[in-house]
Amino acid sequence: MEEEIFDIEITDRAADWNTFLTKHYRKELGEISTEYPHLRSLEIDYRELSNWGKTGLEIADEILHNPGKVIGDVRDAVRNYNLIFTKDEEEKAENINIRFRCLPKKIDVRDIRSHHINTFISVEGILRKTTEVRPRLTQAVFRCLQCGTITAPYKQDYSRFQEPYRPCAQCERQTKMDLVPALSTFVDAQKLRIQESPEGLRGGEQPQTLDVDVIDDLTGTVAPGDRVIINGILRSVQRVNHGNKSTLFDIYIEANSIEIGEKEFEEVEISEEDEKIIRDLSNDPEIYDKISHSIAPSIYGMQDVKTAISLVLFGGIAKEMPDGSSLRGDIHMLLVGDPGIAKSQVLRYVIKLSPRGIYTSGKSSTSAGLTATAVKDEFGDGRWTLEAGALVLADMGIAAVDEMDKMAKEDRSALHEAMEQQTISIAKAGITATLRSRCALLGAANPKMGRFDEYAPIAEQINMPPSLLSRFDLIFIMEDKPEQKLDRAIGEHILKSHSVGELIQHNEKFPIEGINEEYILQQLAPVTPEIEPEVFRKYIAYAKRNCFPILSDDARETLISYYLNLRSLADDNSKPVPVTARQLEGLVRLSEASARIRLSNEIEVFDAERVIQIADRCLKKVAYD
Ligand code: ADP
Ligand code: MG
Repeated sequence: MEEEIFDIEITDRAADWNTFLTKHYRKELGEISTEYPHLRSLEIDYRELSNWGKTGLEIADEILHNPGKVIGDVRDAVRNYNLIFTKDEEEKAENINIRFRCLPKKIDVRDIRSHHINTFISVEGILRKTTEVRPRLTQAVFRCLQCGTITAPYKQDYSRFQEPYRPCAQCERQTKMDLVPALSTFVDAQKLRIQESPEGLRGGEQPQTLDVDVIDDLTGTVAPGDRVIINGILRSVQRVNHGNKSTLFDIYIEANSIEIGEKEFEEVEISEEDEKIIRDLSNDPEIYDKISHSIAPSIYGMQDVKTAISLVLFGGIAKEMPDGSSLRGDIHMLLVGDPGIAKSQVLRYVIKLSPRGIYTSGKSSTSAGLTATAVKDEFGDGRWTLEAGALVLADMGIAAVDEMDKMAKEDRSALHEAMEQQTISIAKAGITATLRSRCALLGAANPKMGRFDEYAPIAEQINMPPSLLSRFDLIFIMEDKPEQKLDRAIGEHILKSHSVGELIQHNEKFPIEGINEEYILQQLAPVTPEIEPEVFRKYIAYAKRNCFPILSDDARETLISYYLNLRSLADDNSKPVPVTARQLEGLVRLSEASARIRLSNEIEVFDAERVIQIADRCLKKVAYD
């Protein structure tokens, strides 16, 4: 038999690393030298490495396929070339964490497959759950119960406690051995669960999740609701069913580094071309109509609701007060209405237009509900787990909450804080945390008895306390009264939107010359949006990033005199919503949003009057007569 001979290029990677690190990471290594063990991780920018000539590219590729070896190479370099220069550098080189960040390619949780196992990957998502940080055994030392001899350290796996399988080295008896914690080694450990970001999901898809194992100085650095990129090695663990080992494996990612997304994180990208389109749109005298006609065009009517939703989408401006408190910019809006009038449809449409939109139902939400919960379940292996609910996951976006009247009691009280302070505080057992929920809440609810009763006061028919209602900037009461003309229009509109879809499908199967999708949409214009959802989303993002309008004196005067008038009118305690300074704050937010739609930096009387008109129609029903 002939032996195959491979050409193996022997490369001294430690030497390469020495060259690279002394060139680019001298400062970081110096900091670790002086601040160890407080500082014990070296974070290496993957892009920098892959830009470092041919060798850099090779190593960058090695990281993806053989991360363990590369980390060993770096440690060798640190040790052999004394890159960390104080006493016990030997020990330091062993213990310093080598972390890689800023990988160019990210993979979606749903695309992870078995061939990714043991490779280095980068996944993006929202943190849904985090456990408490607890010590985990990494090297166990045992004592023989017969002769008292201490064993050598046994390396411990991720999940299973490994006991000595050999008899005692001293007395050679197969006896029980006891763990000696004081001589064993522990590492801080935490488990996380990330969930795909809503942006990447096609309508209605359930987000998938991935568990993350985090150790040492990476623990305790993130909170539920954070947008993160997790870089690390995909690992697998064998499932066990009733004590029997299964052929199925579970996967998790062993985190090597975590990047926390900031405000603008992976949000809509706007090209120069887009900017021009947006600027042109904003100068269109019809822009307000165009915008509201582009919201749920398949839903007929509801003009005020759609106009109001356009304000919610653009939002007001959050303000920091000199005393450190802050005032929210997000606009909360509630639709209370008879069943079957397309409330749910509208909600579902709106979240598609909003960056970071989340749809949830007050009734069927996950165990975390709307806000957040702390539980002790199998996820945490006995540790407390903090789980983010919809309002935390929608941080910096819109939370559309359907069936709000049916939400759990605990959520109801937590909502007060979530809506006004935009935080959610949890204090339970071992966990105290404050999560952020800087989102606009768009709620929908049915009347208490299922339908509105014309003869009973509205206040008795909304199944929510005044304290909660007063936190909404706009409340729409939507009654479904049979009205022949309107009913016919809605009916025709519904049939039309059905036929658009049918025609397109039909035409795909049996094409007719000259008739294409574009033609059909054109012919049936009323049900297609005037502004494409993609452009719409960019428009909103652009306005929110660039436009911070302030009140003109005249606009201020208009708002104040309306508010004073409102106060004098609202002395009736039987109304569901008290008139307080909240309404004035709400009017300012709405005016800011109105100016933003035009990309104007000044709030004019025009804006003030527009929003007063909308707000007044709502307030007339819920706050005064
Ligand atoms: P709700 O949540 O208010 O109970 P849904 O959103 O479930 O109502 O709507 C019920 C159905 O009626 C949906 O299929 C919706 O498209 C249709 N519908 C109701 N009102 C309208 C309308 N004004 N225009 C178009 N469709 C409507
Ligand atoms: Mg509904």
